[in-house]
Amino acid sequence: MSSKVTRYPGTEITGDQAKAGRYLLTRYETELRYSWSSGKAISRFLEGLRDGELWGRRCDGCGRTMVPPRMYCELCFRPTDSWVRLKDTARVVTYSVSYVNADASRREGEEPVIVAVVEIEGASPMMGMLHLLGEVSADELAVGMRVKAVWKPRGERRGAITDIAYFRPVRGGPQA
Ligand SMILES: [Zn+2]
Repeated sequence: MSSKVTRYPGTEITGDQAKAGRYLLTRYETELRYSWSSGKAISRFLEGLRDGELWGRRCDGCGRTMVPPRMYCELCFRPTDSWVRLKDTARVVTYSVSYVNADASRREGEEPVIVAVVEIEGASPMMGMLHLLGEVSADELAVGMRVKAVWKPRGERRGAITDIAYFRPVRGGPQA
């Protein structure tokens, strides 16, 4: 025999009743503190960012150099083999020119935000990251454009992807 529950036992407290003080109400603010392990590969990657360096991980099985690095190759089903120091230059794979802020308000009178997926030079194809582009106008943008990381000053780096302020075009060098 099965019966569908249409009403739960107990007495519902409505918002109006609570506001009217019909029930004891206790308010408190929690202070939540927690740590999260970023793992062996990403920890080294983040430490590298703090030092102004990009590190990838090579798999001898498939020959790929992965960035962000991982300790296990999902294609070969085996641990990756070695650390590879990468240059901080990249190619633009795709980009988006945004005239709205993160809160959906218009960027009136401000330059648009340019977000791009960049492929790090020296790593395997399609290895890279989503980041900001700077020192470039929307008209100049092109897929394949060569860019270089602009690092925050050493004292402002925190071991985060934002230690790179943005990528800027490499002008005068070979393009695509
Ligand atoms: Zn592999």
